[in-house]
Amino acid sequence: AAVTRFAPSPTGFMHIGGLYAALISMCMARQSDGVFYLRLEDTDKKREIEHGADEIITSLAQYGVCFDEGAAADGEAEKGSYGPYRQSMRKEIYQTFAKDLVKRGLAYPCFCSAEELDEIRKAQEAEKADMGYYGSYAKCRNLSIEEIEANIKAGKEYVLRLRSDGNAENKITCRDLIRGNIEMPENIMDVVLLKSDGIPTYHFAHVVDDFLMGTTHVIRGDEWISSYPLHEQLFRASGLKMPKYAHIAPIMKLDGGENKKRKLSKRKDPEASVSFYSKAGFPVQSVLEYLMTIANSNYEEWRMKNPDADMSEFKFKLEKMPVSGALFDMDKLASVSRDVISKMSEETLFDEISVWAKDNDEKLNAYITASPDKFRESIKLWKYNGKKVRKDIAKWSDLSEMFPYLYGDGVDGYEFDEKLTADERKEFLSAYISAYDHKVDSSAWFDGVKVVGEPLGFCPNIKEYKANPDAYKGSVADACGILRVAITGRKNSPDLYTIMQLLGEEETLKRLKAAM
Ligand code: GLU
Repeated sequence: AAVTRFAPSPTGFMHIGGLYAALISMCMARQSDGVFYLRLEDTDKKREIEHGADEIITSLAQYGVCFDEGAAADGEAEKGSYGPYRQSMRKEIYQTFAKDLVKRGLAYPCFCSAEELDEIRKAQEAEKADMGYYGSYAKCRNLSIEEIEANIKAGKEYVLRLRSDGNAENKITCRDLIRGNIEMPENIMDVVLLKSDGIPTYHFAHVVDDFLMGTTHVIRGDEWISSYPLHEQLFRASGLKMPKYAHIAPIMKLDGGENKKRKLSKRKDPEASVSFYSKAGFPVQSVLEYLMTIANSNYEEWRMKNPDADMSEFKFKLEKMPVSGALFDMDKLASVSRDVISKMSEETLFDEISVWAKDNDEKLNAYITASPDKFRESIKLWKYNGKKVRKDIAKWSDLSEMFPYLYGDGVDGYEFDEKLTADERKEFLSAYISAYDHKVDSSAWFDGVKVVGEPLGFCPNIKEYKANPDAYKGSVADACGILRVAITGRKNSPDLYTIMQLLGEEETLKRLKAAM
């Protein structure tokens, strides 16, 4: 059974890459009957926001990512026996482990001031040496006990550093579960383990926490690969058993040309935030399905063979994950989402859209609240084309864009075909309005268009018209086209008869008159 975790800093921002990583960690735990827990890496008080944890927990829960154990929302009790799960509450634990390293000569206090560190940097620059605190540059490495005591007595601030035993000539191997073996030189840096306020760095906290919390698989961003030699050394120095590692490639986007990939950026890209997808009205299931297609290249094939299966039945494999950053493809997401939406029942659609509209589309919400039955009818309109299921809608906001004429105040402009003159259109519309009967079925309605159109030169039979177009002003299809643009403003729309029924007699006549 795998014990996996999601270990975010509670900055109040849920990155789509975070959801991706959490989803994968959850899959690994669930499919092995393991445990998936939440650990809050809240040691950087500057970056943290109030209720950042609640935010993470709520937005992940929205996407079906739930934790078996770990940190809880503010005011709620943590679950699990390996806590506390907030790093800010584990100070004594880190210090206990740190003390043990000091006792064994594997860590030491460093009193270097910012100025002294700067001098070291300058010297390294001048000597073209590697930057960092190591070897003969590590000034505090060999202080005597007396010197240390004197410094502490004098009230000098200090950090705790690892006394690295690494040699850059030696190689270590990271057995990454996604990338296979990665060879890297041993770590030689005397890295900071505890900051001057006693708070651990990520490196030290990672080692202590993932050991104590029983993590079997550390699944994290690939920006941490280069720190692996340090982590390996820290586990060894502390005498702790290492977990397995999987480093995930980030989600990328193209920026300025075919070959310029960069990570989705929290600052620059709205689509980096999970909230972007809920605001746009992508169903949760669509986002999850899409992330799975990125995560495992064989997922799509599996989905095709198992269209109705629950996602959790898919056998997810870390070794099938992409090694280089997958491009975020909005078109692909839309196409996955069209499939997901086309499989939803009318009832589910009604519920999902109502909930979405409440928070995101005032007009649509007002419409649904005022006329729920009409809204139910309108779902049929875009869901079906005769008996076939259409796939026009990729996200709920498409509804507000596609159908202002349906839910909104009416037509926002006319795309009339220039084949007929304005006078010809007017003549037809005027005759149609006089003859309009709202209470007929769809075939009688179509006959009505023919009856009004024929004396005005619109051929009721399309074949006949095509054989001899010059004999007519147009065909019944052209007559319907005039009505369609008059009612919807658009050349293309779902079934016109249904739209008119949905609008009702009064609104239909109002629009026909307005178009004239
Ligand atoms: N807080 C770290 C991050 O967000 C955690 C990395 C890890 O999973 O170990 O990058």
